[in-house]
Amino acid sequence: MAESTQKTDYVVGVDLGGTKILTGIFTQQLEVIGRTKISTKPERGTKAVIERIARCVQEAVDECELSFKQIRGIGIGAPGTVDAGTGQVLFAPNLGWQNVELKKELEAQLGLPVFAENDGNLSTLGVYHAELESKPRHMLGIFLGTGIGGGIIIDGKLYKGFNKSAGELGHMVIDVGGPKCACGNRGCFESLAGRQSLFLKIQTMVKEGHKTVLTEMLGPELNNMRSGDLRKAIRKGDDLVEQVVIQAAEYTGIAIANLMNILSPEVIVLGGGIIDALADEMMPIIVNTARDYAMLGTDKGVSLFASKLGDDAGITGAAVIARRETQ
Ligand SMILES: [Zn+2]
Repeated sequence: MAESTQKTDYVVGVDLGGTKILTGIFTQQLEVIGRTKISTKPERGTKAVIERIARCVQEAVDECELSFKQIRGIGIGAPGTVDAGTGQVLFAPNLGWQNVELKKELEAQLGLPVFAENDGNLSTLGVYHAELESKPRHMLGIFLGTGIGGGIIIDGKLYKGFNKSAGELGHMVIDVGGPKCACGNRGCFESLAGRQSLFLKIQTMVKEGHKTVLTEMLGPELNNMRSGDLRKAIRKGDDLVEQVVIQAAEYTGIAIANLMNILSPEVIVLGGGIIDALADEMMPIIVNTARDYAMLGTDKGVSLFASKLGDDAGITGAAVIARRETQ
């Protein structure tokens, strides 16, 4: 093998989501050279999910014609509270996980150093490093996926807070007594605008007799509904789906107004599967609502836009910490 290909010049970024596991292989310059995606299948249990993560990493390394000797380390984002020091996932409601030794288990399976963090924090870092050339001092990332994750950057650094759990923007209560959230609370932002909550709302309305084109597209049970199906339905003129999506966009705007009032960020970036699929439909409503509800003056000069990184935000942020920790 040529000398140049034997250098340990690569890092791996993994985005562990409630629906899918995405792995990217990155150069030290944070360019992605290959990606692998498999479904998470959290219902099969913790051990099975960790084995699936390991398999996803192995496949990505193999697809890029690399060997494990050429990989310096692996960064992974998990959807919940993560102790970045120990690499333990303390609580991940959308996976049904509590106190899972993610770092230890993955290191045992893969034989490489692993660094774990909250997925919203990593997606925010990914956007900050790969997309925001101006490097604003204060920035927020908000990601509408299966649930809703986020991250707070203050003075150019990820803000972790006293219990290292800061940035759980999805569990800000914005409708007291509202729908049940995966975290056990009611009326969290995630229970009003996360993908699971939108799907559940649509399924409930269909059971109550409301009509939607989605039943023609997916069958009466609306199995395997995806964010892109909501976009297709709206573009076919579906009122039910449009109303549900408008409402989610309004809640997102309200959440952002609260965050602007409290933190006064310079840049707010939105991402995640829901935004990737529905940016055209949702962003104008999100921006208008956020500016409507923000205190006078707090939104002045603030940039609020959808990330162009799509699925790459999480894996890029994961690669950022893998590179940082192995330098
Ligand atoms: Zn919650």
